[in-house]
Amino acid sequence: MLKFNVTILITNDGPALTNVCVSVLPDGTIADISSDFDDEAVYLEGVLIPGFVNTHCHLELSHLKNELIPDNEGMKGFIQQLFAKRFQSDEEEQIVSMYTADTEMWNQGIVAVGDISNFSRSNIVKAESKIYYHTFIELLGLNPAFANAIVEKGLALQQEFLIRKKGKASLTPHAPYSCPTELLNLLFSHINVNDPLTIHMQESLDELQFCMDKSGPLAEFFKDNGISFADFIPFGEVSPLQKLLPIFPQNKLQLVHNTYTTETEIQLANSIHPALFWCVCIGANLFINNKIPPVDLMYKNNCTITIGTDSLASNTQLSILEEVKCIHKHFPSIPFEVLVKAATANGAAFLGIENRVGKIKIGYNPGLVLLENINMHQPHFQSEVKCKRIM
Ligand SMILES: [Zn+2]
Repeated sequence: MLKFNVTILITNDGPALTNVCVSVLPDGTIADISSDFDDEAVYLEGVLIPGFVNTHCHLELSHLKNELIPDNEGMKGFIQQLFAKRFQSDEEEQIVSMYTADTEMWNQGIVAVGDISNFSRSNIVKAESKIYYHTFIELLGLNPAFANAIVEKGLALQQEFLIRKKGKASLTPHAPYSCPTELLNLLFSHINVNDPLTIHMQESLDELQFCMDKSGPLAEFFKDNGISFADFIPFGEVSPLQKLLPIFPQNKLQLVHNTYTTETEIQLANSIHPALFWCVCIGANLFINNKIPPVDLMYKNNCTITIGTDSLASNTQLSILEEVKCIHKHFPSIPFEVLVKAATANGAAFLGIENRVGKIKIGYNPGLVLLENINMHQPHFQSEVKCKRIM
């Protein structure tokens, strides 16, 4: 049995505890939390929280670390660079980059990841990882005539992940501008009631313009690359959220980015769908669009906030702590405990692992992360805070 004396313990299962001893089994299961220091325990200086959950990542883009240049050209500029550089390195090199990224996430205290995949090459890394992965097989395709083929391919890919019996894998749509109704409906007919869904939402002005009237930089990009969007029916003045949410099933649904989402849309979305998770990827938003997502509005409207790193193509590191520090820098009034929950328990709830991850509670196996170099009188995610994985 391992024992740790902790000055401040955030359990996510009630108010913060002070001067307690946490007993942990060698496999990481919480055995006891006692209300006094134990003479034989190891003293941890800092704030102890559950392991982080990264709810939006693209592990298979890890080889693009430092390859793409932020040009503030928005989505079109980013996708253009992504297309040009995505297949430049061979598969072996890509897998090595994924192992490195996976280790980086583990060392940064991340215990679970919601990972978007278009290919099977991350499979081996996930199968050997100490991190829990939920793989979201991402489907997209502007031509409704291909919907059947796209779903079939997605189901085959899902089987490749499931066969390793490690983590979970389910289908999910890419974004409002890349998934016609035919594809969405077919996809929804192939998911289970407990499968969470995740979709990129209102990340850039380029996609908003394309959704409205099929014009702008994204339309130009599609034309330049021979991608037909003749069958795409524009949404007009109706926002992508308003257009899509009514046809989504009631499964847990994570909206990723929401960079350009207004308060009216947030309120409307929460009134339409009962189980929304609002994923913030602030590092990627600054990288691609030089824009800060409206985290204050999400907090104000009681949204369940989750945190994602996005990929190393659009972020310099895969660290939930760094994401949260960046949110705190721009929104200092959001309370510490709210951000801890967003970075841990909310992500666990989204991935359906809330009965063992996200809380420091007897019988749970949440991973333990120590926030060091932190103001112990008024803990918050100041820029100098560091994290250390304890379990
Ligand atoms: Zn993404």
